[in-house]
Amino acid sequence: MHETAVAESILQTICDYAAKMNARPVRAVVSCGQFNALNDEVMRFAFEAAAESTVAQGMDLQIRHIPLRAACKACRISFEFDIYDPVCPSCKSMEFEFEPDAPLLLEDIEFEDPNEGIAESKDPEPQ
Ligand SMILES: [Zn+2]
Repeated sequence: MHETAVAESILQTICDYAAKMNARPVRAVVSCGQFNALNDEVMRFAFEAAAESTVAQGMDLQIRHIPLRAACKACRISFEFDIYDPVCPSCKSMEFEFEPDAPLLLEDIEFEDPNEGIAESKDPEPQ
């Protein structure tokens, strides 16, 4: 269970940015691969606990799971590996090698605009 360590490390980065920008973070996106996959529920809980009484308290944390990719040795295409259907989707070969797993990454942090409310900073929905 590495979520607690990850949550603390992410929180530290977010707080550093928040201090630099002098703004309150409202949303962050974390992405992970399959071998270092985070459990969404455990991660949110760990993050909420770590963020309590910091500038990041109450912010929204999103977790993006990036599928593992493999490269076919026969036709050389790269495809999303599906554990329930582990063949090349193009030539049906079972000879392939895995590509490097996606790293654990803090992709994006959104900050509250000090001049405008969060609601007003959104673009109106196109009709
Ligand atoms: Zn193939």
